[in-house]
Amino acid sequence: MNKKTIAEINVKNKKVLVRVDFNVPLNKQGVITDDRRLQMALPTIQSIIKRGGSPILMSHLGRPKGQGYEKEYSLLPIAKRLGELLGQKVLFSSEVAGEESQAKADALQSGEVLLLENLRFDCGEKAGDDVFASKLAQLADVYCNDAFGTCHRTDASMVAVPQAMEGQPRVVGFLVAKEIKYLSQTISNPARPFVAILGGAKVSDKIGVIENLLDKCDSILIGGAMANTFILAQGGTVGTSLVEEEKQELARELIAKGKEKLVLPIDVQSAQKLEANVSVQTTPAGQIPDGFMALDIGAESAKKYSQIIASAKTVVWNGPMGVFELPPFDRGTETVAKAIANSKATSIIGGGDSAAAIGQLGLTEAVSHVSTGGGASLAMLEGRPFVAVELLDEVEVSC
Ligand code: AMP
Repeated sequence: MNKKTIAEINVKNKKVLVRVDFNVPLNKQGVITDDRRLQMALPTIQSIIKRGGSPILMSHLGRPKGQGYEKEYSLLPIAKRLGELLGQKVLFSSEVAGEESQAKADALQSGEVLLLENLRFDCGEKAGDDVFASKLAQLADVYCNDAFGTCHRTDASMVAVPQAMEGQPRVVGFLVAKEIKYLSQTISNPARPFVAILGGAKVSDKIGVIENLLDKCDSILIGGAMANTFILAQGGTVGTSLVEEEKQELARELIAKGKEKLVLPIDVQSAQKLEANVSVQTTPAGQIPDGFMALDIGAESAKKYSQIIASAKTVVWNGPMGVFELPPFDRGTETVAKAIANSKATSIIGGGDSAAAIGQLGLTEAVSHVSTGGGASLAMLEGRPFVAVELLDEVEVSC
């Protein structure tokens, strides 16, 4: 995947329909509580403005019913905040696709920004409807996808709109370009040793990732509750730990396939209850007594994992090593996060909890890439094709 970016398109006096991910958290008063997703879209938007183009921004927010306007999901507060971040007024269309949005798009002057109302107010968005898509496609001359968190979906704005704009430039924005660079290109052609660290609650959520990475990695370090299923499958005892008993056969298959590549914890931190200030004991993995549950990898495992990470040239991490939300069960996750931050490897942090852990520890700047998409980053690590990205223009290679 070597996709053309918005930087390669002459956007002067052109209208650029940009699919962004402005699915930000809002409180009951409609105030944005975290505007990181807006900040991350700024480079693409500013690049278009600076070169004399007019961005027409479209996004979803939350899960409205798809039957028209719902105040709590309106993008109007976002137009205001985005205007503050850009230092210029952001025009707003209270209609998603139709006469009002077309008139506002037609009247847009070079350098002006227009934001459309929530795409999901129209049921055509989730349905991937062609008629809805063609109305959006008519608004602009160029299509740009900068919504990585939605790239694994086939909603109208992701697939039917660029399809309807065939023959016009269809490119990725800077955010999507960076995600593809790390989650796809780096992983397909990694500097070795290539080490993956996978944790979290369930093996079943990450089967695709384990299978795909087993073919590419030199080691996969397993932590979190996910490790319990592997340990049980090997005949160990896991007490009252969170475990997927019905996935033992699958775990055995992955162990047989992975052989020494698949590294399991040697010790765990266990307790009788998942509570603050509970008494904690270290036990060898697979020897957890009745009434105890594994809530984190142990210090020996964390040390072993850190040593493997220290010699890696490429590292991918998805999922915490334990219940990192509740100290002291955050230690395994913290040790692994610090080992990644201290390593010289190209380090890629999958979205969700691992990204949150890296952020909480103040280590975001010490890693190469923190993905902005939870589901999308998992899907890309599984090596699944992304229709929304595949149909976009490729960089032309001259012979
Ligand atoms: P996931 O969404 O699959 O990445 O799982 C993340 C969740 O797994 C977090 O909320 C952790 O608290 C939880 N988790 C990690 N390790 C354990 C464990 N040993 N026992 C119970 N929950 C765990």
